[in-house]
Amino acid sequence: MGKKFVIAIDGPAGSGKSTVAKLIAERLGFLYVDTGAMYRALTLKAINEKIPFSDAEGLTAMARAAKIELSGKFSKYTIFLDGKNVSDAVRAEEVSKGTQFVASILPIREILWKMQRDFRDNHDIVMEGRDIGSKVFPDAQLKVFLDATAKERAKRRYLQLREMGIDGNIEDIERDILQRDEKDRQRSISPLVKLSDAVYIDTTGLTIPQVVEKILSLYSDRSR
Ligand code: C5P
Repeated sequence: MGKKFVIAIDGPAGSGKSTVAKLIAERLGFLYVDTGAMYRALTLKAINEKIPFSDAEGLTAMARAAKIELSGKFSKYTIFLDGKNVSDAVRAEEVSKGTQFVASILPIREILWKMQRDFRDNHDIVMEGRDIGSKVFPDAQLKVFLDATAKERAKRRYLQLREMGIDGNIEDIERDILQRDEKDRQRSISPLVKLSDAVYIDTTGLTIPQVVEKILSLYSDRSR
């Protein structure tokens, strides 16, 4: 039997990765894996345990001891940290801002890469993040890079937060998103990059179903 199929979806914050990846997983019956949620869970743990972001060794030891579980399907997708449901807590602004520190520690990335790769042992997967096509699965059968203008991405994040009952200021959100992207693109370890073998999709003028259909048609070409 050949390797399980991987659809790797990378892109900046607010490019629509989560929404689109979930829908594709649902349509194909693939496992959906949100790697951002894993970096967020470790960041939340660091905050809760008051481990300074400058303490790479302390953070790495913490990551080794952490138990991260992703479960459920699509709309009821849940992330557990040490047995506790942290699906909402990991979306807090403080966590978004802190991920850059946790995400730039190589031993921590190695721990998460291993967990991420293990999903492929038993499942075809749709995995989203920043380095899925470049680092986690360089041999993914389909790599997609989703993008959108900063304005559009800020608008989406604003609406997403509002849905969760969090009121935000759209200009502040745009500034934060741009800063986070800059950090994700500039870091030396595993930066967000557009690979030459990834299909680039600018989602700015597209609806969610249009993006989903585009990726599904790429999938049906590649899976033949
Ligand atoms: O995708 P999301 O916005 O939830 O990711 C939160 C943060 O986690 C990103 O800004 C990035 O710093 C980090 N991340 C990463 N590599 C991934 C996924 C997320 O470094 N594969």
